[in-house]
Amino acid sequence: MSPCREPVSSVNETIGETPLVRVHASPDSVPVYAKLESFNPGASVKDRIGKYILERMLDRGDLEPGGTVIEPTAGNTGIGIAVAAGQLDLQAVFVVPERFSVEKQQLMRALGADVINTPSEEGMGYAIDRAHELADELDNAAVPQQFSNPLNVETHRETTAPEIDDALSGEVGAIVIGCGTGGTLMGLAEYFLEREPDTHVVAVEPEGSAYREFLGEEVEHEAYKTEGIGTHDVETNDLFDPDLVDAIETVPDRETHEEMSRLAAEEGHIVASSSAANCVAARTVAERIDRGELDVPHDAVVTMFPDSAERYLSKGVYRSFEEWTS
Ligand code: PMP
Repeated sequence: MSPCREPVSSVNETIGETPLVRVHASPDSVPVYAKLESFNPGASVKDRIGKYILERMLDRGDLEPGGTVIEPTAGNTGIGIAVAAGQLDLQAVFVVPERFSVEKQQLMRALGADVINTPSEEGMGYAIDRAHELADELDNAAVPQQFSNPLNVETHRETTAPEIDDALSGEVGAIVIGCGTGGTLMGLAEYFLEREPDTHVVAVEPEGSAYREFLGEEVEHEAYKTEGIGTHDVETNDLFDPDLVDAIETVPDRETHEEMSRLAAEEGHIVASSSAANCVAARTVAERIDRGELDVPHDAVVTMFPDSAERYLSKGVYRSFEEWTS
């Protein structure tokens, strides 16, 4: 299963084919499986889109070798793009709202990229505009723009989803995944709904986030600590298609924090907050299936563990809830 049973010639060839592991704290009859994306070389799910999108942009001539990719990113996408860009003769520049983890920004720089910080209070919309302005000023530069690029969804439809399908011999009843751009959830939803239209599709967001506005609900926007999922600005997201989604699960930071510690102590997973929120939500869905409240074509529930807690140790993820959120 691992792409690394044989020697390979570039780190880009080690992206994907990550393990799918059963979560023990789930009902016996309705197993939850999590895909461990920290096994990628840049240690997150975003290596997949870095490689896939840049290769497609080069194939299509959107960028020439020696060109520059400029991306507004909270961090993991920057690392993923920086890993791939370095091996594809491309430069990388990232526009990062400053509230995001310093570890991620250090890694982007170590991989050879330039990082430009924008004020956190201006939000992701501002970072996106800055990235486009910079690209206009340079020759041979392009903005992949993960929040609106259909190649983001395609990456997961073409790589992540078939890996899960193979590992579970097609027996997937529900997919329960946190949305940042929504690329992962949408790619998996497209793939599995085409094969089995009754697959139950659930988006996950932290409490305080506004994804439920896509369903026409009114949401009280509040700050949350969980990193990598949720939004305060549904306008900047062109990928999330509410028609593919059966429900949105909202997970409070406090439950996410408890689950992060439990996953490490009981199951050996050094995973970060979005993984823990995904796990809480996936278990809730599995319990509903177990009680007969949801009709699904197969029992297995699939979720993602997008990255590792090591990237957030300076933010106190394993300290008390108060310390983490202060
Ligand atoms: N978790 C983490 C840690 C992330 O960085 C991201 C991407 N922002 C996600 C989850 C969500 O992935 P997606 O953008 O595909 O919805």
